[in-house]
Amino acid sequence: MAWRCHGVDNADLVRQLERHGILKSARVANAMRACDRGNYAPTSSRDEAYEDHPLPIGYRATISAPHAHAACLELFERAGVVARGKKVLDVGSGTGYLSACFAELVGCEEGAGKVVGIEHIDALTESSVENVKRDGKGGLLDAVDAFRLVTGDGRDGYEKMAPYDAIHVGASAEEIPEALLNQLAVGGRMVIPVGGSNGQALTVIDRLRDGSLRKRDEMGVMYVPLTSRDEQLSPTRF
Ligand code: SAH
Repeated sequence: MAWRCHGVDNADLVRQLERHGILKSARVANAMRACDRGNYAPTSSRDEAYEDHPLPIGYRATISAPHAHAACLELFERAGVVARGKKVLDVGSGTGYLSACFAELVGCEEGAGKVVGIEHIDALTESSVENVKRDGKGGLLDAVDAFRLVTGDGRDGYEKMAPYDAIHVGASAEEIPEALLNQLAVGGRMVIPVGGSNGQALTVIDRLRDGSLRKRDEMGVMYVPLTSRDEQLSPTRF
């Protein structure tokens, strides 16, 4: 998988992801077509926005590679948890790119579903709001009950709007935060990279109808850690 899906523009990037079999669902492809990665990549690396690799966004964070975004969106779509009207929590929302894709899928702008993106670096939350505006989705930001980009410790989830049908964690954890499991709805799915700094397993957790959890590893991945703000910004870390 991956590193082969470079595009000349956003539509071409999505086409490449489809051609390589990473994007399978038309609904996910449409959502990614509607969110131009060029509007979420930092200005200094905008010419690389349609290449299939992560890009640094400052504060030791990255915007994930397009194939990683596509793979996560597909995992949720396959479980039916990002259908119109569903509720999504995006932990470590960074640039806001994936939160915007979720908003397309669940229909935030039409008042159908709800999305909360939670990011612990305030400057990143602020720039994610600008990115969403640049992407022509300012209307989303007016619908505060349907779409929110907030600053906070994502390890605690976002209780105010719980439970969630889909919880995406965009940073890796050695252990799955209990609060996130508690905020996963019955029938819901969480996707979280689990492991240490040498690599992680992208783990898929489903809450079954009887309330129990079913867990499986999807693939090996490499994400930045889900940590405290101080740890992330500390010069001695990593
Ligand atoms: N999914 C985003 C960003 C991925 S990088 C994108 O593709 O644009 C992971 C993000 O998780 C970083 O922005 C980092 O600041 C954030 N993060 C790490 N620990 C966190 C925590 N405890 N709470 C909230 N956000 C956290």
